[in-house]
Amino acid sequence: ETPLLAVRDLRVSFPTDDGVVHAVNGMDLTLGKGETIGLVGESGSGKTVTSQALLGLFKGTPATVTGEILLDGTDLNTLAEPAMLACRGKKISMIFQDPLSAMHPFYPVGSQIAEVYRTHNRVSRKAAAEVAVDMLGRVGIPDPRRRAAGYPHEFSGGMRQRAMIAMALVCEPELLVADEPTTALDVTVQAQILDLIGELQAETGTAVIMVTHDLGVVAQVCHRVAVMYGGMCMEVASVDDLFAAPGHPYTQGLLASMPSLAGETGRLRPIPGFPPALLDLPPGCLFADRCPQASSVADGRCRTEVPLLSGSGHLSRCHLGEAA
Ligand code: SF4
Repeated sequence: ETPLLAVRDLRVSFPTDDGVVHAVNGMDLTLGKGETIGLVGESGSGKTVTSQALLGLFKGTPATVTGEILLDGTDLNTLAEPAMLACRGKKISMIFQDPLSAMHPFYPVGSQIAEVYRTHNRVSRKAAAEVAVDMLGRVGIPDPRRRAAGYPHEFSGGMRQRAMIAMALVCEPELLVADEPTTALDVTVQAQILDLIGELQAETGTAVIMVTHDLGVVAQVCHRVAVMYGGMCMEVASVDDLFAAPGHPYTQGLLASMPSLAGETGRLRPIPGFPPALLDLPPGCLFADRCPQASSVADGRCRTEVPLLSGSGHLSRCHLGEAA
């Protein structure tokens, strides 16, 4: 079966005053219909830039985006902005950590959701307003008819996040990209929002890319997970496999650094060292500077050859796991 989304060799770079920043360096990812994949990594790992590239947010900017982003067989990376605009909201949409950045401060929340609906559906304003009220109800906003007339700043953080989810899902897109959607919320509200995304996903069959630095969120909602480092996938596996038997030294370090998963002592063990310099990528494995196992690989290959993402089902990008 063809996957809903197939990203192949995605690369994103930006010119800056200091030189070209290589933010995404050959990202490969597939996603089935209705599936949820977690994109995890530290800040600077390229997870957010990858998700923005999927939405075509770099079109018309100085950034260079190469590679394929096949959604239902259409390469989004080749679409010009007008065609991408027709796609955004309808086939693919995004929710952000900060709903205020995605909402207009001077329009009622209901009208904003109705406008998104009307962009993709030929209906009257009145009918679209009804859809918006219905959608606000579906995301658990009490008294949705009254709240539809309210402005974003009148909503609490959690309610605003619900409203943004309503806006993102009102056209039932095939793919929802959620970029740290719960990071700014307190733990209880966070759990409610994750549950809500899961419920709506079960109803609509939308696939979700959950971009997060939080492996706890991944464990709670994702089927599979892709671990990113230096703008590449270092490991891709089912959530169960990844937590039970992380294959990549970076993932092993990440899991060991998580207080909630490190057992009784709960001691945080940060991975020593710093992420790779994206201005001047080193040759070989991007994790080599921090990898405790680099010295076990023969011929210093970690410093000279970029390992391939290999394996079947459970993929890892490390010379250690490669067949001799
Ligand atoms: Fe470590 Fe080498 Fe594997 Fe990179 S390729 S993760 S440096 S062992």
